[in-house]
Amino acid sequence: MRHTMTDGRRIVVIGAGPCGLGCARELKAMGHRNWTLIEGAAGPGGLASSVVDPQGFTWDHGGHVVFSHFGEFDRLLQEVMGDEVYRHERSSYVRHSDRWVPYPFQNNLRHLPEEVGYECVVGLIEAAGGDPSMDFAKWMRATFGEGITEHFMAPYNFKVWATPAERMASNWIAERVSVVDYRRALRNLILSEDDIAWGPNNTFVFPARGGTGEIYRRLGLELESNIDFGRAVVGIDVEDKQVRCSDGAIESFDFLVSTMPLDVLVGLLGRCPEQVRRAAGLLEHNGVYMVGVGYETPLTDDKSWMYFPQEHTPFYRATNFAKYSPFNVPGGDVERYCSYMTETSYSPYKPEERSGLEERVEQGLRAGGVVGGRPPVATAHLEDIPYAYPVPTVKRDEALRTIQPWLMARGIYSRGRFGAWRYEMANMDHSVKMGIDVARLIVEDRPEELWSL
Ligand SMILES: Cc1cc2nc3c(=O)[nH]c(=O)nc-3n(C[C@H](O)[C@H](O)[C@H](O)COP(=O)(O)OP(=O)(O)OC[C@H]3O[C@@H](n4cnc5c(N)ncnc54)[C@H](O)[C@@H]3O)c2cc1C
Repeated sequence: MRHTMTDGRRIVVIGAGPCGLGCARELKAMGHRNWTLIEGAAGPGGLASSVVDPQGFTWDHGGHVVFSHFGEFDRLLQEVMGDEVYRHERSSYVRHSDRWVPYPFQNNLRHLPEEVGYECVVGLIEAAGGDPSMDFAKWMRATFGEGITEHFMAPYNFKVWATPAERMASNWIAERVSVVDYRRALRNLILSEDDIAWGPNNTFVFPARGGTGEIYRRLGLELESNIDFGRAVVGIDVEDKQVRCSDGAIESFDFLVSTMPLDVLVGLLGRCPEQVRRAAGLLEHNGVYMVGVGYETPLTDDKSWMYFPQEHTPFYRATNFAKYSPFNVPGGDVERYCSYMTETSYSPYKPEERSGLEERVEQGLRAGGVVGGRPPVATAHLEDIPYAYPVPTVKRDEALRTIQPWLMARGIYSRGRFGAWRYEMANMDHSVKMGIDVARLIVEDRPEELWSL
């Protein structure tokens, strides 16, 4: 028998988001039966769940596109969704100087006013070149030069991260930011060529019905006999290897896989060294208000999503959500409705007034050139996402190197977007893969392929 070594060992998984579900599904696939999953919310999906608002519009928790780096995730998606997805070509733009500049901005400078385009190219030529030991502020200037940094990178990144770039590292960047060499930028500018196919998500799929959350709703159904919904973990006893739940129940574990935010997890530990607690206090994150606005006007916009570095909109991104699937609007009626999902970040460095945000977002959609005229507003829905982006600060890696080995030595594996707190591996495919890998590590002693310190 393959699994006798660990069959008797109790695995408790916290959280039915993509990571916890990926882990649970793999445990089941490996024939390991002694596990349970505890989820505080009423349903599965976590940050990747979807909601239907009272007017019948479907929303995700911010713009989610499904693209994958891993065979395991592709297979899971195929098994769970089959052909019930739409396939899209990315068509994304940056709004700047009242124009639409194809994304990535830095490769398509010819769409800018001539003076701005000139400043950007000169900056690129003069840029000394960045290296990953620099903080993000220095790295942006060294990589892109003054023009692109001032016109796009600095304001856009502050709008997304809600964190001063000086506090952030640059070693997470790799495929997350398109780096361009000046010859290519100059060529595109002078020869009037566009360069739009950059990046890992230039094509993407989207569930036909139910939003992104449909993937995890279906996964949750497969596993629900072992999942306790509506039951939050409120305490963890490391020595006795027990978790305490909001309903008073106690669960014993040999191994704990936690996908809750790592700083919250450390806060729930009965006892832990002061340096672990201090390190958890160094982890920074932002929050995001997702405001979805549905209009009673036909869908005609062909863009997928749009970036907004400038001040005239509170949001940094808007997604043309009815284009992802017509069923994101009531009755699938895109002759009658369209819908835009926006994301506005907040943090202590960038407070954002929640009250009245729906109105400010709706005005922003018009001021930002997303919708023309004054179409009737059919819905305006707000979701508060207090843990949205795990910020890659300069202090992050040292903090993680203090916390994670201490936890793992006690059979506690913290994985997923906020469990690992590594933005560079924080998408859905990464989160599922981390869950699968940790299941294999615990049951079969196979080294993890994605997560490392
Ligand atoms: C604004 C935004 C945009 C995004 N865009 C994309 C994208 O385009 N493409 C992409 O692939 N990914 C995207 N993501 C990332 C994606 O949402 C995450 O990768 C994924 O949801 C992380 O899964 P997870 O299981 O690690 O964590 P989560 O989804 O956070 O799930 C954790 C679960 O743990 C539960 N939990 C927390 N505390 C407790 C407790 N004490 N007891 C019990 N349960 C608890 C929570 O309720 C939750 O269900 C985006 C995320 C955000 C916020």
